[in-house]
Amino acid sequence: MSERKNVFLYYIPSDELEPKIQQLKTVGKKQGFKLVDNMEDANIIASIGGDGAFLQALRKTGFREDCLYVGINNKRLGFYTDFDLDKLERIEEGLQSDMVEVLRYPTLEVTVDGIQTFHCLNECSIRSNIIKTFAIDVYIDDIHFETFRGDGMVVSTPTGSTAYNKSLRGAIVDPRLRSMQLNEIASINNNEYRTLGSPLLLSSSRELVLKIVQDGNDHPIIAVDNEALGIRHSHEVSIKVSEKVIKTIKLKDNSFIHKVKRSFLQ
Ligand code: NAP
Ligand code: MN
Repeated sequence: MSERKNVFLYYIPSDELEPKIQQLKTVGKKQGFKLVDNMEDANIIASIGGDGAFLQALRKTGFREDCLYVGINNKRLGFYTDFDLDKLERIEEGLQSDMVEVLRYPTLEVTVDGIQTFHCLNECSIRSNIIKTFAIDVYIDDIHFETFRGDGMVVSTPTGSTAYNKSLRGAIVDPRLRSMQLNEIASINNNEYRTLGSPLLLSSSRELVLKIVQDGNDHPIIAVDNEALGIRHSHEVSIKVSEKVIKTIKLKDNSFIHKVKRSFLQ
């Protein structure tokens, strides 16, 4: 933390948030931090809001590897937000002691039609944009694996495993495992179409290619985290675990295991 002092705050301004932001700024100043107006000048990027705000902060600042990302929540702690805007003394304590630890989260690299590349921290999802099903030929390392027909598919990172993936009955994955998980959204399974029907966890050395079958319904929505890509028509989406990792800080007594327990078991 020591040499990093330039902070960019990412949040959606509101009357409710403003007084708390002012207090946060005072604490930061006292600890020697400098607020910057341009994200390019920052080496710490702090999001204020929920996990959704943290994901947006990453996207808007371009998944920077030379920055430390910090999630500050204003309601309840999330998976990416380790600090609470209502507990400034804890943030202050964290800033000056060795109570914080740097975590490295794996991301996914998504390439559409071999030209446009995107990153995601939660997942890449691909969904039919109409009520009709659509079909995807799934390739793993150039091997045709299955032909999927249904509402869509979700490929999640380990940290994204507690989000969309979980509601599809995917496994929760320890972020220390560099991997990606493929999951189905309402697949049709009959004598004509057959899919695995269970989540598939793939190692970081695999490459997954989803080829959209061009049969008329071939305009699915492709999303990275909480943002839909503005791509109207695509043929293939290739996904792999990226070399890019996101650095974030967490309090030492708030591990991934603590978070899973806090969110789902109490
Ligand atoms: P949202 O629709 O406003 O909220 C989705 C919920 O998921 C929020 O409660 C959010 O937390 C939480 N969340 C986000 N990332 C998480 C994670 N890694 N682990 C556990 N919970 C997480 O959308 P959003 O806040 O912008 O979040 C985007 C995410 O929503 C997507 O990346 C996707 O994972 C998820 N999603 C889920 C479903 C589903 O489960 N059926 C469908 C679409 C999207 P906060 O309230 O703290 O923001
Ligand atoms: Mn949200």
